[in-house]
Amino acid sequence: MKRYTLALGLALAIQSSFAQNVNKLIEEKDVERIIKTLSADDMQGRATFTPGIDKAATFIEGEFKKIGLQPLKGLNGYRQSFSMVRTEPSKMEVSINGAPVSADKVAVVAGSSFDWNSNSDVQVVKVGADQNFQREYRSYMTSGKKTLLLVDPSSETFFKRLKDFIGRGSTTFETSANNTQQVAMVLGTFDDVKSFAVHYESKPENLPLFNVAGMIPGKSKPNEYVVFAGHYDHLGIIKAADGDSIANGADDDASGTTAMITLAKYYKKLHNNERTLIFVAFCAEEIGGFGSQYFSKQLNPDQTVAMFNIEMIGKPSKWGINSAFITGFERSDFGEILQRNLEGTAFKFYPDPYPQQNLFYRSDNATLARLGVPAHTISTDQIDTDKFYHSVDDELSTLDVNNITATIRAIALSSRSIISGKDTPKRVAKLER
Ligand SMILES: [Zn+2]
Repeated sequence: MKRYTLALGLALAIQSSFAQNVNKLIEEKDVERIIKTLSADDMQGRATFTPGIDKAATFIEGEFKKIGLQPLKGLNGYRQSFSMVRTEPSKMEVSINGAPVSADKVAVVAGSSFDWNSNSDVQVVKVGADQNFQREYRSYMTSGKKTLLLVDPSSETFFKRLKDFIGRGSTTFETSANNTQQVAMVLGTFDDVKSFAVHYESKPENLPLFNVAGMIPGKSKPNEYVVFAGHYDHLGIIKAADGDSIANGADDDASGTTAMITLAKYYKKLHNNERTLIFVAFCAEEIGGFGSQYFSKQLNPDQTVAMFNIEMIGKPSKWGINSAFITGFERSDFGEILQRNLEGTAFKFYPDPYPQQNLFYRSDNATLARLGVPAHTISTDQIDTDKFYHSVDDELSTLDVNNITATIRAIALSSRSIISGKDTPKRVAKLER
């Protein structure tokens, strides 16, 4: 009995010393300074490919340098650079039986420029009024065969929508530039096709992108990684509301990026991590999650023990302050480990209350999660009713810095047994894609 009491007393003492550390080392005024800088108007909403996001990256690099993080293995600095290929159609000319088809009735999906004529190895397929064009389109898109689809005018609505979408171009990883897909679609009634010619030109453009990442090597388990992440991009300049057109993205996701930076500072000061800690600010989340996709493929998923992705912790959750939720809670015991480490504190982690939103696969944790990593997103956002989401009002004045600080402290406390190597969360089921 005595021993038990002593052990319990000792445990509580350790618990409260951890809590004191966290409160001392993670300061609200520092949290406020970082989020204020990232969400300021001079960052112009941090849209991908704009000077605003470059400014944000430079700021994050400066923080990493002050903290004393090391660059990732094989890199000289904190920028993890890669490039995407943006392809936009620049010319589409189609003639059937010698007569040119008007441009508004033509749509082409192709990886690069091409020329077809009647002698080319192209299958000509009619999509009749009795067929579902949407379904036919999908099957020919994935058939791998060069296809000329003659689409009955009754499918005009979907055709127009598709043409619009294709016209906006596509962004893909450089490595997928060997895309040989060629599908041309023509809207109209063509009874007897004796000859055809299709001329398509596209101008692929290389777009440089980069994540900002750094690490603290682990003392005894340097080959086991724990990742902390947030995305530093946002929407940029959008449609003005009340004279404001800058989508500052203070909650989405300057708050998560702030958490990531603050945690890096915290762990560097503690200097006791047995596993290697990786801190990363992802680019291009809002335009397709390219930053996290690239990052996830640069490290061995089997060596990645856990990922804490932090998204939108700027406002109290549906349970009020001192609470947050974890996406994909039931897919591993990551959440249970975190909960256990918070016992005796005022903070609680809950399973994601919005399963219908499919948040687990909607954020930057998704790529690593598909590879089997217990990669989860921590958030406090009331996504079903958040009227500031993706609006010009997602700015610091609509946030609660106290909530952000409390959540960061909770992440710091709750992650400690994973950092120390004591706990290893169960893997999530791999997904083929
Ligand atoms: Zn986001």
